[in-house]
Amino acid sequence: MAVPKKKVSPSRRGMRRSHEALTASAYHECPNCGELKRPHHVCSSCGHYDGREVVQAGDALKAAVRT
Ligand SMILES: [Zn+2]
Repeated sequence: MAVPKKKVSPSRRGMRRSHEALTASAYHECPNCGELKRPHHVCSSCGHYDGREVVQAGDALKAAVRT
């Protein structure tokens, strides 16, 4: 097994982890019902996208939309 030659200093470890920050996922208000939805996705509460209903609200919507 490959073994590191030297212990990584706290500074170097911090430099490596500087790219590991999590970003908050983007959310938009649905123009039809006002619920928060992901941009470029069908609204998970009313099934609307781009001003029209693309999935009927109800069980079909639950199956079609990932939240
Ligand atoms: Zn909606």
